[in-house]
Amino acid sequence: MYWDRSIETLDAGGLNKLQLARLRETVRRAGKSPFYKQRFQKAKLSAENLASLEDLKKLPFTTKDDLRAQGLKMLARPLTEMVRLHASSGTTGQATVIYYTRADIATWADLVARSIYMTGLRPKDVFQNMMGYGLFTGGLGFHYGAERLGALTIPAGAGNSLRQVRLMQQFGTTAIHIIPSYALYLLKTFDDKGLDPRGLPLRLAFIGAEPHSEDTRRRIEAAYGVKAYNSYGLSEMNGPGVAFECPEQNGMHVWEDAFLMEVIDPRTAEPVSPGEPGELVFTNLTRRGMPLLRYRTRDLASYDPTPCPCGRTHRRISRIQGRTDDMLIIKGVNIFPIQIEQVLMAMPEVATNYLVELTRQDFNDQMHVKVEVKESFFKEDLKYLHGLKKRITEALKSELLITPRVELVEPHTLPRSEGKAVRIIDRRE
Ligand code: ADP
Ligand code: ZN
Repeated sequence: MYWDRSIETLDAGGLNKLQLARLRETVRRAGKSPFYKQRFQKAKLSAENLASLEDLKKLPFTTKDDLRAQGLKMLARPLTEMVRLHASSGTTGQATVIYYTRADIATWADLVARSIYMTGLRPKDVFQNMMGYGLFTGGLGFHYGAERLGALTIPAGAGNSLRQVRLMQQFGTTAIHIIPSYALYLLKTFDDKGLDPRGLPLRLAFIGAEPHSEDTRRRIEAAYGVKAYNSYGLSEMNGPGVAFECPEQNGMHVWEDAFLMEVIDPRTAEPVSPGEPGELVFTNLTRRGMPLLRYRTRDLASYDPTPCPCGRTHRRISRIQGRTDDMLIIKGVNIFPIQIEQVLMAMPEVATNYLVELTRQDFNDQMHVKVEVKESFFKEDLKYLHGLKKRITEALKSELLITPRVELVEPHTLPRSEGKAVRIIDRRE
């Protein structure tokens, strides 16, 4: 049940020792990049004077802006040694580019293989990868990982719903990798064809790349007849395979032999306690081409250091609550989009899609939430619909502390994307 038992179950002392050795190695490697060379000199940090993991804190954080501004100055090896590049999807501004050596591709594939093996994927499985191939790391990252594991891998790519369904039928797909919002959307295609995904041999789904709630996971599990596992990663730390759920489905194990994790208060940069939400900060421990140290991910989650019944010792993180930069301030109240999803997906009448529009009138923020309602509830009973609208408004209000204007719409009428869902449209100046 372990891909790499000795690493996955290494005790705290052993893990600490391994991390320190790898951190020294990383500092040695990263010192070859013009960017870190200068930073190390300023901080008087070297592989030789690094006595404990704590010493890393002498070094300032690395940010997305550093990556954008420094470009190739971040590389620790000559460009000619790089065999691939990926770029982040640019959800928040200009894309950042990450370069990989051949060795980096191999260690990344191994981490993804370890992650999906943990959920029960085996060489006999037929794995359909429904993530975008290309600059986005989700597609190729999983592709290499699944091949490394030995599963039959179908490089389906994103979108083209009818073809996705046909591939599943034709090849007897048992596992899928899919963006959660797309998993919900794809159900319409099954429905249109009069098919039930539960009739297929599907048993596993890997969902990630965007924040989603527990209710969304349960909906996917129920509709497809699968176990769905949360998958977390970002291109700056390879891509997928940074943290992944085990069969306990209770938090994602961060692969701490490969990533040194800090969780900080995004305002003060001080470490937070277990269970408290904070910003994830990672240091690569195994990367060669472009190691990043103390990289601020902007992703918010809490961590749990307690032992996991699965026997793995690597600490777990909660679901990603959002990014520091996707927090909305509406009428002075801080709101994360995931809060809206949590409320909506917990209501059985709500279908799979919704859209939030923010406007400002006379210095006053307005929040307009369009919600798709399931066919069976979208009756021509005005009194019923009025009541439902009222209940949704109340539920949102009690979670968000502001009163949105809710509009109920028919299923499949709101725009959607094949990649990460775009749920918020902010039209405020
Ligand atoms: P970006 O979206 O920043 O352009 P990436 O394509 O590298 O770049 O995506 C990584 C980001 O996607 C993460 O930083 C995180 O915000 C989000 N993400 C990835 N996996 C998950 C997940 N399982 N849950 C929530 N968010 C996730
Ligand atoms: Zn576990």
